[in-house]
Amino acid sequence: MPEAILTLNAGSSSIKFGLYTSESGNLAIRVKGEVEDVGDDLRMTAKDGYGARLADEDWSGEAGSTDALFRRLLDWIEAHLGDDHLVAVGHRIVHGGRDFQDSIRLTVDIVSALKGLTPLAPLHQPRSLAPIEAILELRPDLPQVGCFDTAFHRTIVPPASRYAIPSALEDEGIRRYGFHGLSYAHVASRLPDMLPGRRKVVVAHLGNGASLCAMRDGRSVDTTMGFSALDGLVMGTRPGLLDPGVLLFLMKEHGMSHDDLEDLLYRRSGMLGVSGLSADIRVLSSSDDPRAREAIDLFAFRVARETAAMANTLEGLDSIVFTGGIGENSPLVRRLVCERLVWLGVAIDPAANERGSGIITTDGSKVTAVAIAADEEIVIAEDARRLCGGTCIPAEASSRKMLSRISLKVRK
Ligand code: AMP
Repeated sequence: MPEAILTLNAGSSSIKFGLYTSESGNLAIRVKGEVEDVGDDLRMTAKDGYGARLADEDWSGEAGSTDALFRRLLDWIEAHLGDDHLVAVGHRIVHGGRDFQDSIRLTVDIVSALKGLTPLAPLHQPRSLAPIEAILELRPDLPQVGCFDTAFHRTIVPPASRYAIPSALEDEGIRRYGFHGLSYAHVASRLPDMLPGRRKVVVAHLGNGASLCAMRDGRSVDTTMGFSALDGLVMGTRPGLLDPGVLLFLMKEHGMSHDDLEDLLYRRSGMLGVSGLSADIRVLSSSDDPRAREAIDLFAFRVARETAAMANTLEGLDSIVFTGGIGENSPLVRRLVCERLVWLGVAIDPAANERGSGIITTDGSKVTAVAIAADEEIVIAEDARRLCGGTCIPAEASSRKMLSRISLKVRK
């Protein structure tokens, strides 16, 4: 019976899902959908592999209960399986800490170890784990696989991985992890065909969250996010790099608590904070308000500045890859970034940049820039098939080995 894989990517206001089937050895997308918070409503939309609409339904009745939501989603998926057999669910998990350096079959014990990493990603980790726990409860026999956003950066070593803090804190796990690893893994898999022979590549994952990855021969050697998803670039609602002295000042002079700072740093800063209007580049680009332009300029300035820093780690730069919602879709941002990198040998082709997909620099450009669509789901689906398709690796075997290695102690 043909095998099917379900992928789940639980974000702040939506759960994206994908249903893949194996066709002549390759995975093909059958259904792509989303359950999204829209005001007070919960809407489920889905399209088939050709982009034709399959569903647009009000699921608000399931809004109050994670179990009810995933029961309905699994029922819907199973009704659309046809002759295929669902062999696994693959999940995006934001943080794998130091120990989870590759995708893994999920068990109750593994999920509990992953919960222990919540202090490292207090807002994102619980969202990643909620669907896993719901499915463990609803369909305990359905194999589940966790794929980590941090795992692609396991190849980053000191000095790039270190903070200049006492070693005891580093030993506790306070180090630079990096995120958006599934998007970077997708780009890395495309590099040999897309940019053959280009060894030193900066990948810009520019979405609501944003980071850069310095890739040498397809492996991460540096990245702009660090211990948390707050570091590095300006983002939709996060400031990126911020002098820690600002936090000390706000605590002392404004009496701000941990929760106040968390709200400021995750929800009220970034392009939303600078513009006072929106976190969305689409809204900002079409606004006449000078603060909107200031926010976009600051965003692009910091992408360019950090690209130069990544090029320094790489000791050169052959290519830049733009991906993520902004990287794929905003010619304005790509142009502003590339214009600041002319000195590094980036010569943008304005017409190609407006068209968007593929190479956006001139034939003579020393550095080739390209724009491609992010596809974290295919990376998750492939790992889920590797771990659960065909001859399945027993969950207990893979998890026991992993659990015996877990040593990270996170202070609460
Ligand atoms: P992501 O987090 O990768 O889904 O990216 C979301 C962000 O991408 C949005 O907040 C927008 O700023 C940006 N975006 C999405 N679609 C477009 C578009 N067509 N043009 C410009 N920016 C876009």
